Amino acid sequence: MIGILSVPILPAGTKVDCTLDTVTTLFGNEAATGYARVAVERGVDRYPDGLTYAIPQSLSEIRPGDRVIVPLGRGNTATASYVIDVAQNTTLDPAKLKPITRRDDASARLPGQLVELARWISNYYCAPIGMTLASMLPAAVKRNVGSVTKTMIDLGDPLPLDEKLPPKQRQVLEVLAKLEPAQRPIELRTLADMAELKTTGPIKKLIDRGLVETSRRTAVEALWSQHTSDATVPERLTEPQAKVIDEVAGGLDDGFAVHLLHGVTGSGKTEVYIRLIERVIAAGKTVLLLVPEISLTPQTSGRLIGRFSDHRVAILHSGLTAAQRHQHWLMAAEGRSPIVLGARSAVFAPIPDDKLGLIIVDEEHDGSYKQDQVPRYHGRDVAIRRAQLAKCPILLGSATPSLESWHNAHRGGKGAFTLHRLADRVPGAQLPIVKVVDFREQQRAHQDRRVHLIGPAMQTALGRTLEVGAQALILLNRRGYANYIACPDFNCGWTMQCDHCDVTMVYHLNKQLPKPGAGYVRCHHCLAEQKLPATCPDCHKRISTFGLGTQRVEEELHRMFPMLVEGDTMLRVDSDTMHGAKDFHDALSRFGSGQLRVLVGTQMIAKGLDYPGVRLVGVINADTSINLPDFRATERTFQLVSQVAGRSGRGADRGMVIVQTFNPSAPSIQLAAKHDFVSFARIELAQRKQGGLPPLTRMTRIVLRDEDHLKCLALAKATAERLRQLAGEAVRVRGPAPCPIARIAGKHRQQIELLAPTAGIMQTLLAAARSEGVIKAGTAMAIDVDPIALL
Ligand code: ADP
Ligand code: ZN
Ligand code: ZN
Repeated sequence: MIGILSVPILPAGTKVDCTLDTVTTLFGNEAATGYARVAVERGVDRYPDGLTYAIPQSLSEIRPGDRVIVPLGRGNTATASYVIDVAQNTTLDPAKLKPITRRDDASARLPGQLVELARWISNYYCAPIGMTLASMLPAAVKRNVGSVTKTMIDLGDPLPLDEKLPPKQRQVLEVLAKLEPAQRPIELRTLADMAELKTTGPIKKLIDRGLVETSRRTAVEALWSQHTSDATVPERLTEPQAKVIDEVAGGLDDGFAVHLLHGVTGSGKTEVYIRLIERVIAAGKTVLLLVPEISLTPQTSGRLIGRFSDHRVAILHSGLTAAQRHQHWLMAAEGRSPIVLGARSAVFAPIPDDKLGLIIVDEEHDGSYKQDQVPRYHGRDVAIRRAQLAKCPILLGSATPSLESWHNAHRGGKGAFTLHRLADRVPGAQLPIVKVVDFREQQRAHQDRRVHLIGPAMQTALGRTLEVGAQALILLNRRGYANYIACPDFNCGWTMQCDHCDVTMVYHLNKQLPKPGAGYVRCHHCLAEQKLPATCPDCHKRISTFGLGTQRVEEELHRMFPMLVEGDTMLRVDSDTMHGAKDFHDALSRFGSGQLRVLVGTQMIAKGLDYPGVRLVGVINADTSINLPDFRATERTFQLVSQVAGRSGRGADRGMVIVQTFNPSAPSIQLAAKHDFVSFARIELAQRKQGGLPPLTRMTRIVLRDEDHLKCLALAKATAERLRQLAGEAVRVRGPAPCPIARIAGKHRQQIELLAPTAGIMQTLLAAARSEGVIKAGTAMAIDVDPIALL
């Protein structure tokens, strides 16, 4: 019987209409062998469980997770979709059900647990299930890119003693036997070359005689060689490391549990992951390791690949070519990789259902785990749910845990996380000295009236760092040259805004163009671009540009230290200069080799880098996010300062950090300077509690968007009103109100915020609102459950 739903959140009595699109069609002369519920790969939100189709006899092998083609609607448009459930019977009239046309591609079946996970995501995050399933499968897999299969050869059973072999065939077997395990199975041609054969004939004879094993497989491109591998093994674990490993490993067979590892930067968390991975692999299981963004992967993956070089690490992230994606996806799907490593979407790695032994989420606090398109899931939270489905433990690690996870580790009661601590850096390394300096005072110290980005304290420290041959990272979380373009005349007051968004335009310098006005202005939200105007359009005075940006930092550094030359001894690392994983890898390897002395960059350089040569970290302005209208602004400031500070002094010499700020007494900055996460979390959680904010409550943010302001407002009001009626006393409904950025790319934006005491109460409201059609993800409405960005 069709009708099992793992997360029952539909209010009693809700009818699910499955008949609309299933008009009567001729069924040919094939009888149905069963019925399948499918989710079409489109924005159609057939909540909660898709459409029902008949399974023709020729497709009796169909399973949940298969991608199939079905006829949709009156025109029977061939539409890709996913099987989410299969049953013998149906409550619908079988005569009215259309048959599935065909199965799409043999390699693209999703494991059953992923289908289950998709249903949870679709429910929890209010996303159409078809789109959720579609986003689990990389486009390269759907399009079958790069699946050129080759014949692979492996050792067969031992030869019978009396077996007589011609010399060439014997030679092949000898070569095969001498290969490292990681080199097998080996591609037919390569084996022929290694055995110094002119033809593949002798190997084919061995195949015919059944003396070697064969398989067909896609060839894996040399992806691993892109990562600088590092196989250094620390001599001995620290006591706290050993303790964490024992505690987590002790529970590997005991089913689902969530562990939170709070370890200061450089405390050896990665080493803990590696040892745990070794144990899981030894038990014949697979580890899924998630890291934020590609920017963290080069070093982390380098270490993993170095340490697990005899295993095939499957790597899944957006920096791969389509063919690489496909190949690595298949390696994970076929259970050939005991380690699967990747960014957010790797949480959907098709690891076979019985194989998953442990999930690790590194830097679990990182915002890049949240997807900002439908389905708007949080990779960490989905990973927790996946571990629960796979009945395995999950380890979340961070030097600055999210307050959500921290709260979960302290609230006690059912489902609470187990907390583990690494309070000190590994032996021989000390946490850096952090000096907070007042930006205003620093400005006064300069003789002229120009705005300087680098104050005397940072200048002195950088000078000393360069003198002793050490390296520095200089952080400013803002791209471009200047983020204000304005009329110098107060009475006029003109500032340059984007024509399509309610934000100021950012000035980007282009050195190829002649000065003055050598550059263009760009909107960071809709990417509109134009030339820098020379004069104010209102009063025709010469305009001025001010504010901060990484380009200006670079310029000022060069002026102060002529030895720092952009592209030679100094490099700017932000999304304007780094056009992909390769650029970033190259930059890091040049930095690692010591050729580059200074990296200037946005938060791309704040994360996970581990270079012993870094003696100084400079934060140009710690306040770039402190004043944003977002209740997580202080948490982000704390994270950014702590994380970037953690890059300093990872070698034998103690590091130094200079933090410039307009708010030197702000707790987020003071406590980050003291490496005191625990106090920060205590203070911040108390404030969240007072404000009724997450993690002590649950939030959902609904954003209404329309080019027509009045239409937007009307829909927002109607939606809020209906939500208030449905919510009753249980859930606070705030708004509608204009979003902090009230217009983006020509669309007006209104927001409604829901605050519920628990996730369960929130889900009940969302399910009711969704089944009534009050809320529906689409172009006019974004539904963001547990949002992390509030602009
Ligand atoms: P984290 O991930 O907590 O920032 P890492 O795992 O990157 O820390 O470790 C920081 C450095 O310390 C690395 O270079 C690592 O090789 C080294 N390290 C890790 N564990 C030990 C240990 N027990 N003894 C000595 N060095 C260690
Ligand atoms: Zn814009
Ligand atoms: Zn003017």
